[in-house]
Amino acid sequence: MPEAKSILLMVMIAMAGGCSTHQARSLSRATPHQAWVRSHGGLAPAPLAQHVTTVCSRQLGAATLADCQIHVLDSDAAVAFAWPDRRIYLARGLVARLTDDELTAAVAHELGHLLDDGLIDHPVTLASGRTPTDCEARADRLGIAILLAHGKNPTAMKSMLEKVRSAPSTSDTTRAALTERIALLRWN
Ligand SMILES: [Zn+2]
Repeated sequence: MPEAKSILLMVMIAMAGGCSTHQARSLSRATPHQAWVRSHGGLAPAPLAQHVTTVCSRQLGAATLADCQIHVLDSDAAVAFAWPDRRIYLARGLVARLTDDELTAAVAHELGHLLDDGLIDHPVTLASGRTPTDCEARADRLGIAILLAHGKNPTAMKSMLEKVRSAPSTSDTTRAALTERIALLRWN
């Protein structure tokens, strides 16, 4: 499957490009990043992030996630975010709703953003009324290519998005955008 292999190569090249995971820290004032984390519920207990990292590393290979840091936010919302510095955040409410395959699909979608927009300069979300649907649909497509490159079931992308759509925290605007994106999903 040449296309899947080239996507895998892109992933590896992107990872090899490295990322900065260090930010200036201050004892007296939170960094913008820390403030953002706090405004999204703070961090859930570390074992939860470790669980997600273990599941996704097993499914996608540790090398695929080597330069990423996966964190879990202590929030009931069904959301996920990718930061340009390759930090990926999933909310506890999303992790709780998903099977291991769907969890991997959610992380593959976020990796899709990082591949798609090496140019992003703000955190992008799994589903938001504010993020253009075409940007989200591209991340879905790249996420599916990542799943296929690793022999994983691409239908998990669809069931994951359906679960986000039916979550109580998801707004009507986002639900409508998700319906459009689900209709655009293709894997053969
Ligand atoms: Zn997204």
